[in-house]
Amino acid sequence: MEWMEIPPQRPDIASQVWSERKMPRLDSTKVVDTFISAATIWAPSGFEKPMADKMMRDFEEMNIPGANVMMDGAGPAAGSEVGNVIVDIPASPNAPPTARSVVLSCHLDRVPVRAPGVPQDEPVQVEMTADGTLQSKGFRTNIAADDRAGYTAIKEGLQAMHLSGFPHGHIKVIGYVREEPGLFGARALDPAHLQDMDFGFEFDGGKVGNVIVNSAGIQRFKATIIGQSAPAIHASKGKSALRAAMDAGTRIDGAEMKPGQTLNVSNIMAGQMGQDGAPITNQVPDSAFLAGEFRARNPDDELELRKHVESCLQQVAEQHGVEIRPEFDTIQGFHLSEQAPVVQLAEIATRASGSKPKVMGMMGGTNANCMNAKGLPTVVLGSGAYLQHTEREHTSRNDLIRATQVVMSVIAAAASPAVTAALLATSEIAPAI
Ligand SMILES: [Zn+2]
Repeated sequence: MEWMEIPPQRPDIASQVWSERKMPRLDSTKVVDTFISAATIWAPSGFEKPMADKMMRDFEEMNIPGANVMMDGAGPAAGSEVGNVIVDIPASPNAPPTARSVVLSCHLDRVPVRAPGVPQDEPVQVEMTADGTLQSKGFRTNIAADDRAGYTAIKEGLQAMHLSGFPHGHIKVIGYVREEPGLFGARALDPAHLQDMDFGFEFDGGKVGNVIVNSAGIQRFKATIIGQSAPAIHASKGKSALRAAMDAGTRIDGAEMKPGQTLNVSNIMAGQMGQDGAPITNQVPDSAFLAGEFRARNPDDELELRKHVESCLQQVAEQHGVEIRPEFDTIQGFHLSEQAPVVQLAEIATRASGSKPKVMGMMGGTNANCMNAKGLPTVVLGSGAYLQHTEREHTSRNDLIRATQVVMSVIAAAASPAVTAALLATSEIAPAI
């Protein structure tokens, strides 16, 4: 991960976000309680119903006039028991006509990490230490700060703004399902939900203040290899799919990587097991399966890696006389200019919230990849989750408060006439993406 700090370009604008009305004060006990109530919900990818129910209940209980809390129909396509949760909140009656519309999003699934020996039905227990760190009691499970911290910031930030009567533009909150295994909820989202919205902000992981403006394109590949079976004593009469797969794996993995590229072969499977559970060794395997993925920060490098994988598979097919059926699954990367209005807005809001913006790129995929691909300029904002996907995962009361203040500042900045005028000036000189 490389990052670069944005110089303080227009501190005057950031200082205007809260100049007319003060930032609502947060009740830190309530913020921590919201986090713990979400963090203790066990909702792994595909089984998000308890968390989706909580989100719908939380937002219905806010009683925001005109708000519509619904679940979309993306569940089956996303491979989840529920769809994405979408909360549509109209602009407040006191909003200036120039107020921009924003999507605030997070993901509802969690990685199901348990320390060795911890039973599957043991509830998650979150404890807060004297210094305000929130962690698993006894480090027995992860606490899903990824992405309950993002959920908490959005829910508490929006509620505080609503209760204070702060003017806001049109807001959509989206809780996506099945993010972790491959952004499936966001991929399955009907792009119509993002139409007419100006800017997207995905709150997910990382340090508060991080503004992720570009993310690698990711391609997963899998290949089925069909050879010819033969008894081991006449092995030369067969065409070993396993040998072809190993050769393909070695060739693909052997590529030299440039900075901003990654590639790995993750799976090779072949051969048969007998009914007694022992491997059948007297036979040349006639089918094999190979899988892996590559990532590249720029599209030319991505194309180069795609060609490398394809040509390795083709050479192996020719030299081993086997048939290879490759399949590629692509998640588009995104590359926002530092001058893009969404990036400027993120930077201004982060500064206005009292945190220091750091503009970064990343190799990992997030829901922002899909939102950008569907036409909504979207950045990822850090929501204060550390050592994600491990039982040592943690966040803190301070991080949750700061992330919530970023959410409130995004809402306030998008409604601020001074900020929208500055964004308009920016967008005249630079395209959005
Ligand atoms: Zn996440």
